[in-house]
Amino acid sequence: MITADLHVHSMASEDSETPVCEILSSAVNHHLRAIAVTDHVELVDFQKGAYDVAAEESWALLESAAVPHGLRVARGIELGEPCFDTALAARLLSAHPYDFVLASQHRLSDALPDYYFIDYSDWTHDAIVREMDAYFREVLRVVQWNGFDSLAHLTYPFRYLPSCWREGDYRPWQSVIDTVLGTLAENGKALEINTSGIRKGLGQTSPDLPLIRRFRELGGVCITVGSDAHRPDEIGADLAVAETLMREAGFSAYTVYFDRQPQSVSIDGID
Ligand SMILES: [Zn+2]
Ligand SMILES: [Zn+2]
Repeated sequence: MITADLHVHSMASEDSETPVCEILSSAVNHHLRAIAVTDHVELVDFQKGAYDVAAEESWALLESAAVPHGLRVARGIELGEPCFDTALAARLLSAHPYDFVLASQHRLSDALPDYYFIDYSDWTHDAIVREMDAYFREVLRVVQWNGFDSLAHLTYPFRYLPSCWREGDYRPWQSVIDTVLGTLAENGKALEINTSGIRKGLGQTSPDLPLIRRFRELGGVCITVGSDAHRPDEIGADLAVAETLMREAGFSAYTVYFDRQPQSVSIDGID
């Protein structure tokens, strides 16, 4: 049984209003033993001066939180687009002794919006193939940068494509995906199974089973699981689905991080 949710947002994230104390009490109510608060720090927004407060606010909230007995709290960060400015990324990560760093790719360039805001309904097949190819190549740059612990929600833009693209057929990009997953495995980094798509209409995790299985085939060992909760009631959501996928892909343990160190936890509760 998975009892750790390593992707949760607090009110320090622009898109959440949840106080840290409510995150922690919800984690206890959901029988979790570990949780990571991973507020957004988007490099592109930070560069514009819009996010100067967020990273500091998130840290201050975590520092002042009263941690319930029996719950381990990782002080994390979801660092968006680190390769837009790797020097800034390094400076942000060195500002505090984070326990856990998620790396994300929410947009293709600093001149383009988050995939969330793009309407793909009238895009041609070829244009979508090219767009997703560019996405995976940008993710590969992040993986090669290697300054993080877990790669968040691989296939994120697929959430926003027309539904015919959600069948788990990644053949047009399999070569670059294999390089992404192989590099991740070789570097000993984690692949995140993000469960938010299940409750948001996508009907599956990001990534889904074919890519989780491929990560295993390419030597991947570390998996983190995250709900990407932005509200207290979403904390710990669908961890059982992630557990089923992990078993089907051949994983028997997931990974938690404290002080940036991976700790393997057996799905069956045997450490
Ligand atoms: Zn994200
Ligand atoms: Zn997130």
